[in-house]
This record gives sequence, C-alpha cells and structure tokens, in this order.
Amino acid sequence: MKVLIHPQVDNGVTQSQEGFSGGTLGCQCQAQRVEVSVTAQTAHNHVCGCSKCWKPEGALFAQIAVVSRDNVQVINNADKLMVVDESAAIQRHACKECGTHMYGRIENAAHPFYGLDFVHTELSSEEGWSQPEFAAFVSSIIESGASADSMADVRQTLKDLGLEPYDCLSPALMDAIAVHLAKSA
Ligand SMILES: [Zn+2]
Ligand SMILES: [Zn+2]
Repeated sequence: MKVLIHPQVDNGVTQSQEGFSGGTLGCQCQAQRVEVSVTAQTAHNHVCGCSKCWKPEGALFAQIAVVSRDNVQVINNADKLMVVDESAAIQRHACKECGTHMYGRIENAAHPFYGLDFVHTELSSEEGWSQPEFAAFVSSIIESGASADSMADVRQTLKDLGLEPYDCLSPALMDAIAVHLAKSA
C-alpha cells in the first residue's frame, strides 16, 4: 500500500535542473517572513525520518539538502531566528513565530560535515533544486509515532519513488564520515 512520505515527492520526484544556481527560502509566516538566500545548487538532497529535522505539517519525513555555508545568507527578518537546540551538532536556526527551520549550521570545525549548511529547498518557490536521492533514518519515524507495522509499506513506497531507504545516511555519506574519522584518528 502506498504511503504519503512528503508533499515534495508524493507525486514523483522532480528532476534537478542543470545550471540551477539557487534561490530564496522563506518561512511560513504571513508577514515579515524570514528569508534566506542560497546562492548555489544544493547536493545530497534526501528525505529524512529523524526526529530532529523540520517537517511540514502532517508529513512523515523531512526533505533536506546541503550547500556550502558560504552560499547561505539571511536576508530578511534575521531577528526572528532562534537556535532550536544549542547542544545539537547541527544548530538549526528556526523562525520563532512559525517554527520553520531556515538553515542548520555546524559550528564544530572537527565535524565531518563542517562547512555545509542543511536547508529545506521546499521553502523556495524556485524550481530546479537538486532532486531527493535517497531516504535516511527511515526506522526513526517510529520514534515520532509511526507504527512498526507500517514500515514495509513505507520502505516499498520509498523504493517505488526511487528513494532507496537507509536506516542511517546513504553509503556515500557514511563513507565520507568514515574517511574523515580515519584521517583525524
Ligand atoms: Zn516564520
Ligand atoms: Zn533528519
């Protein structure tokens, strides 16, 4: 049975556009929206089942991608942002009013993903962002209330959408972490 995953992928994954070079992310406030300019194409876009990533109302998964932090800038209403959890490796900057996470930044220079910001490209009206490629932390949706019985349907739906389900990150990203750890050991 097909399961609803996230509004951006439920009707099929939209392909990336060659030459796409970014856009503006906006929070969900009706007025005085927080706006973040992203001046490059994103990478490693995926749906994520962890309990930390921001999800739109009712969605089972979040959709998230990375981009170099040099390409991310808050351009409007920065004073409405707050860090969701100061102790987390990824500092998620969210709008205090509507709760939308605008970008996640790693401040620890020793972290494998230091230098990359995490962004939700669905917050932009531009089309052509890097397409979702896989599903991360699939089993973790159980922590957010999904029933264990539904997992076979969830995994099958992800596969049908071309989003290979993993219970951690994708092999490419797990390898990148391991390379970083091996180098720093
Ligand atoms: Zn807002
Ligand atoms: Zn996540």
